[in-house]
Amino acid sequence: MTELYKQLKQFGQVKLNEPMSKHTTFKIGGKAEFFVAVEQTEQLVELLKFLDEEGIDRFILGGGSNMLFGDDDYSGVIIQIKTKETRVTDTGIIADAGCSTVAIANLSMKEAFIGFEWGVGVPGTIGGAVRGNAGAMGWEMQNNVESVDAYIDGEVVHLSNGECEFHYRHSIFKENGGVVLRVHLKLEKSENKDGMKKALEYLQYRSRTQPQGYASTGCIFKNFEIKDPETLQFELPEEFVQKGKISAGWLIDKAGMKNAQVGKAKVSETHGNFVVNMGSATSTDVLKLIEQIKEKVYDRFGIYIEEEIQIV
Ligand SMILES: Cc1cc2nc3c(=O)[nH]c(=O)nc-3n(C[C@H](O)[C@H](O)[C@H](O)COP(=O)(O)OP(=O)(O)OC[C@H]3O[C@@H](n4cnc5c(N)ncnc54)[C@H](O)[C@@H]3O)c2cc1C
Repeated sequence: MTELYKQLKQFGQVKLNEPMSKHTTFKIGGKAEFFVAVEQTEQLVELLKFLDEEGIDRFILGGGSNMLFGDDDYSGVIIQIKTKETRVTDTGIIADAGCSTVAIANLSMKEAFIGFEWGVGVPGTIGGAVRGNAGAMGWEMQNNVESVDAYIDGEVVHLSNGECEFHYRHSIFKENGGVVLRVHLKLEKSENKDGMKKALEYLQYRSRTQPQGYASTGCIFKNFEIKDPETLQFELPEEFVQKGKISAGWLIDKAGMKNAQVGKAKVSETHGNFVVNMGSATSTDVLKLIEQIKEKVYDRFGIYIEEEIQIV
């Protein structure tokens, strides 16, 4: 048993050589040398300070629903954020980063708030959702976040919505490596019960349009943002022009990649932007498939699509 193992035990539950396939919705990934599940924000901050001072490599894991771990083992410490405290106020909800986004969406409806029903179908943690400015049904985290407590460069800081620098699937935390500790959501109260109805419709829409019964990591690519429509040499559905974005799933379908397969990784029949694990896919299979998709989309449309998922 190493010295580090003993030190890590002060902060949470520690496992050695933990398969990352057990902690990702894709069910892919080699083993983590050290895996620490942390349940208290104070312990999380202490752990981050300790590792940073010691110069030990670390990686933050939320729900593992937007990432692809490599097949090789990870040498360093994976920190799984499992902090779960919530506080309901008159103007919204304050939630620890480890709370599930679905649980917070459900809590918001129970407390008669409106505006966060869309979170009901988004897997993973609210901290991960803030970092990636997750969104669905025309909403994004930036519409609901009032402020964020975060650990940045050894300090705990409080950032306003503006300071989070949200834009499409992006926040400042992607740039500065900050760790989201707690999220303050600003929500409106409403007496009508439309929230539940909407949430149900959102879930039904998902089950119709997303693959069911296979491990995946959600959308692999970001939708393509149209910056200069003049440069596009192909005809676009009006819907995309109005939204200012071309659906990556549409591009992948039109590039003839629906159902494309490498090893056990396959582009979903139901949704072109989902790659599904047919049982024993490796990270190498998925990466090869991602490269093939990018190449075919470029060959057909002359544009590059970028990954939304985090590749480790
Ligand atoms: C079936 C399915 C459907 C999906 N639908 C949607 C959708 O509709 N909209 C959408 O936006 N996404 C969707 N996703 C993707 C995913 O659910 C979201 O991106 C989610 O917010 C990721 O959160 P997570 O906790 O799982 O992050 P993880 O996958 O654990 O981590 C993703 C990245 O965020 C970092 N991270 C995690 N927590 C923190 C934190 N507290 N502080 C700093 N960095 C952190 C990690 O280091 C990593 O880089 C879907 C995924 C699946 C599997």
